[in-house]
Amino acid sequence: TEETLVLVKPDGVARGLTGSILARIEAKGYSLVDLRLVEPDRERLERHYAEHEGKPFYEPLVDFMMSGPSVAIRVAGERVIEGFRSLAGTTDPTTAAPGTIRGDYGRDWGLPVQQNLVHGSDSPESAAHELGIWFR
Ligand code: ATP
Repeated sequence: TEETLVLVKPDGVARGLTGSILARIEAKGYSLVDLRLVEPDRERLERHYAEHEGKPFYEPLVDFMMSGPSVAIRVAGERVIEGFRSLAGTTDPTTAAPGTIRGDYGRDWGLPVQQNLVHGSDSPESAAHELGIWFR
C-alpha cells in the first residue's frame, strides 16, 4: 500500500482545524502511521518547496510556512496520494468544491499566498522525497 505526506499548514493549526482534518482522513479509511507537530526552519522549507523557487509566491510561501507550527502526518492506504488530494480539493480555496477540506474551511484572505490549510504529496516520487524531509 501507498504512503503520502499530509501537512496541516499553519493556518489550519492556528484555526483549530487539525482534528477536523484528521477526522476526514480517518473517515475516508486511511491509516495514520506517524504524526508530529513541527516548526520547520527555512532550510527544511526550501527543500520541501524547491520546485517553486523563483515563482512570485515562493518567498511569501516560505515565510507563511514559518509563521507557526504545522502538523506533519504520514498517511497510508491504497491510492492515498490521489485520494488525499481529492479530499483536499483544488489549490484555490475560494473555488475548491464544497465537501473538500479547502472548499469547506478555506477562503481568500487577500494575502500574497493562498492559505489553503493542507498540503498533500502529488506523486509517489514526491511522497518519498517529502516523507524523508518531514520524518527522519
Ligand atoms: P495543488 O497541487 O493541489 O495545487 P499544492 O499545495 O500542491 O496544491 P502547489 O502548486 O504545489 O500547490 O503550490 C504550493 C503552495 O503555494 C500552495 O498550496 C499555495 O499555498 C501556494 N500557492 C500556489 N500557487 C499560488 C499562487 N498562484 N498564488 C499564491 N500562492 C500560491
